[in-house]
Amino acid sequence: MTIARHDAIMAVTNYKPIEKPMDFSKTPSKELFGSNVFGNKVMKKRLPDAVYKALRKTIEHGAKLDVSVANAVAEAMRDWAIEKGATHYAHVFYPLTGLTAEKHDSFLDPDGKGGVIAAFSAQQLIQGEPDASSFPSGGIRATFEARGYTAWDVTSPAYILENPNGTTLCIPTAFCSWTGEALDKKTPLLRSMQTLNAQAQRVLALFGSRNPGLVFSTAGCEQEYFLIDRNFFFARPDLINAGRTLFGAKPPKGQELEDQYFGAIPERVLACMLETERELYKLGVPVKTRHNEVAPAQYEIAPVFENANLATDHQYLTMITLSRVAQKYGMSCLLHEKPFAGINGSGKHLNWSLGTKDVNLLSPGDTPHSNAQFLVFCAAVMRAAHKHADLLRGSVAHAGNDHRLGANEAPPAIISMFLGDQLTDIFEQIAKGGAKKSKQAGVLTVGVDTLPPLPKDAGDRNRTSPFAFTGNKFEFRAVGSSQSVAGPLMVLNTIVAESLDFIATELESKTKGHPNNLNEAVQEVLQQIVNEHDAIIFNGDNYSEAWHKEAERRGLPNFRNTVDAIRGMDTDENAELFEKYNVLTKREFKSRNEIYLEKYVKEVNIECRLAFRIAKTMIFPAAVEYQYRLAQTSLGLKSLGKDHCTTVLDELNSLLAKLQGAMATLDSAIRHESGSGLLEHAKHMRDQIIPVMAEVRQISDRLEGIVSDELWPLPTYQEMLFIK
Ligand code: ADP
Ligand code: MG
Repeated sequence: MTIARHDAIMAVTNYKPIEKPMDFSKTPSKELFGSNVFGNKVMKKRLPDAVYKALRKTIEHGAKLDVSVANAVAEAMRDWAIEKGATHYAHVFYPLTGLTAEKHDSFLDPDGKGGVIAAFSAQQLIQGEPDASSFPSGGIRATFEARGYTAWDVTSPAYILENPNGTTLCIPTAFCSWTGEALDKKTPLLRSMQTLNAQAQRVLALFGSRNPGLVFSTAGCEQEYFLIDRNFFFARPDLINAGRTLFGAKPPKGQELEDQYFGAIPERVLACMLETERELYKLGVPVKTRHNEVAPAQYEIAPVFENANLATDHQYLTMITLSRVAQKYGMSCLLHEKPFAGINGSGKHLNWSLGTKDVNLLSPGDTPHSNAQFLVFCAAVMRAAHKHADLLRGSVAHAGNDHRLGANEAPPAIISMFLGDQLTDIFEQIAKGGAKKSKQAGVLTVGVDTLPPLPKDAGDRNRTSPFAFTGNKFEFRAVGSSQSVAGPLMVLNTIVAESLDFIATELESKTKGHPNNLNEAVQEVLQQIVNEHDAIIFNGDNYSEAWHKEAERRGLPNFRNTVDAIRGMDTDENAELFEKYNVLTKREFKSRNEIYLEKYVKEVNIECRLAFRIAKTMIFPAAVEYQYRLAQTSLGLKSLGKDHCTTVLDELNSLLAKLQGAMATLDSAIRHESGSGLLEHAKHMRDQIIPVMAEVRQISDRLEGIVSDELWPLPTYQEMLFIK
C-alpha cells in the first residue's frame, strides 16, 4: 500500500533547491526598487512636461484627468512596457471575492496588410470591459446585464509582472457595472478617501491651516503567513481546497516553548523571503521587516506605510508574490486565518492614520498648538470607533476569521480602543472640565496654547486590543490574514470622516463670529465626545473573562461570528451613513452584505463536504484497516489459547461507531434543504453544520492517536510544522 503522506515525507527530506540561487550581488536592492513600475521617475523622463505636471496634479491633488493627458500617458506607458518585454496589458481589478482579477489583452493589432502593429490607446488605458456576470454582485446586476467596466486608477501606478516567458503590463483599475455601481473594493475605498479629505480640510481650516494639501489615509499592513513544504500541502485535500486543515491532532510539541517568535529563520525560508522581497521591490512595494512569528512555521512581512489606496494594491501584490515565490522554493504559503487548530492563527495588523504629504495628523507632535489639533483628530477616531463598532466588526467578518477572533491569540470580537495611560488620563481630565496636568511633569490645559509635548511612546503596548493607538497611528488588529484591507480601510475612512464632519460642524457654529473662541469650543466638543464615547476605551486585558462582562455592561456589541457580525452591521442607519458620504449607495451596501453572507455559506459548504469526504474515504478506511489487523491478531491469539487483551480494539470499535454516527449526521445536515433564504442558510451552516464538523474532527483526531502511524493517511501537524 502506498500512502501519499509517506511519499511526502520522503520528498521533503530529500529536498533540493529547484532553481539556482539568485545572484543578488549583481543588482543591489536599491537599483531594483521600483524598476518594474511606471512611477514618478519614469513618468518624468518619458512624458512631455505639461503632461507630466497635469498627471501629478491628478495624483497628488485629486484633480480631474484630461483625455489628451491620458493619451500621452498611454503612449509612453506602452513604449516603456514593450521595452521591458511586455506583450500584453491587463486591467487588474479587485472584485468582491477579495482576490484580484485580471483580463489580459495583447498589444498587437492586425495592420490590415497581413502584419501586426503594437497599439495601445488612451481608450484602452482608461477603460476596459470585462464580462461582469461571473463576479459577485449581490443582485446589482442581472446576468443578462453582463456589462462591467474597469476604469484606470491614476493614483496607483501601472507595473510590469514578469513571467519566464514574457511580461505583462498591469494597470490597477476600479470595477463597476454599466449603471456605474461599484462591483469592487477599490471604488468605495477611493470614494471614502475623498470624503475623509473633505471633512479633514474643514477641521484643518478651523485650526488656521491654509492650503494644507490633500489629506489622505495611510496604511501599513503586517502580514502573517505560514510556509509548509508543498509535498505536505498536496497530500492534504483540506489544505488544497479549504486553505486550512480540517483534521489533525495537536502535536506533542506545539508552540509552548515559545521558541519560535523572532527565532532564527530557517535557511530555505529565508531564501524564499529574500526572493519575495526582491520581487516586491521591483514592483515598488516598500517591504521592510520580516521575522518568525509565534507559531511554528509562521512568519510575518511588513512594509513601510503608504497612501491607503496604494498600500491596498501593494498588499494584494504581497499576498500574490508570497504565494508565487513560495512555490519556487518547494513550499506552499498558507494565508488562511487558522490553518492549524490549536496553533496560533494569522492576522493582518492594519496600521492606519491620516495626514497630508508632510504631516501625520495623529502624531502628538511637539507644539502645544498641534496637540490640540491632534486631540481633536484622536477624539474623532474615538467617537467613530464607539459609534460604529458594528461596522468595524463587520468589516473583518468572514468564515476564516471566526476561528481566530476571540481565541486568546487574537483580539476578541468586541471592538474596544486602547489609548494608553497618558492619553486616557488626558481625556479623563477633559471630561472633568479641562486637562490641567499630564501624568508626566508639566502642566497642560486642553486649550490650544499650553499643552505640553506628548512623548511619542507615552504608554506601554497592549497586544490584546483590537484597535490600539500606537504612538502616531491606530493599529486595527482584527483583520484576518487572507482578507483584503480595502473593506476595513473604507470603513475607517468613512466613520472618521463622519466624526470629523460632526466636530467641524460643532466648531464652526460655536466660533461663528467669534474666531477667538476656538479654545473654548474645542474643550466643549472634546468634553462632549469623551462623555458620550469613552465606553470604547479599554486599556486592560482583552482576553479576560472579566472584560467580556464589563464590555456587556458598557453596552459594546459582541458579534461572535460572521453571521451575527454581518447582520449586526446591516442596518438602515449604516446604509444611510455610507450613502450620505457618497461611499456606497444603499443598494451597494445591502448587496455587499448579501455577497459576504453568501461567501460565508459557500466557504462553510466547501469545508463540510471536504470534511465528510476525507473522513469517509481516508480516515475511516485507515481506522478500519487497523481494526482488521487488531481483530486478526486477537483471533490468532485466541485460537492458540493465549490471552488476548482487546483494550485498544475496544477503544477503536467505539470510536469507529461514533465516527460513523457523526458522519451520518453530517451527511444529512449537508443534504438539508435550506429553502428559506440566505440568512436561514447561513444560520444552518453556523448552528448545524459547523458543530457536527467539529464532532467528526474530534473523533478523527482521537483516532489519529490510536491508529498505527504507518497507516495514517494525512500528514500530521508535527510533520507539516516541524519538518523543514
Ligand atoms: P509594530 O509596532 O506593530 O511592531 P511598527 O511600529 O514597525 O510595528 O509599524 C508597523 C506598521 O505600521 C509598519 O507597516 C509601519 O509602516 C506602519 N506605520 C507606521 N506609521 C504609520 C502611519 N502614520 N500610518 C500608517 N501606518 C503606519
Ligand atoms: Mg503590529
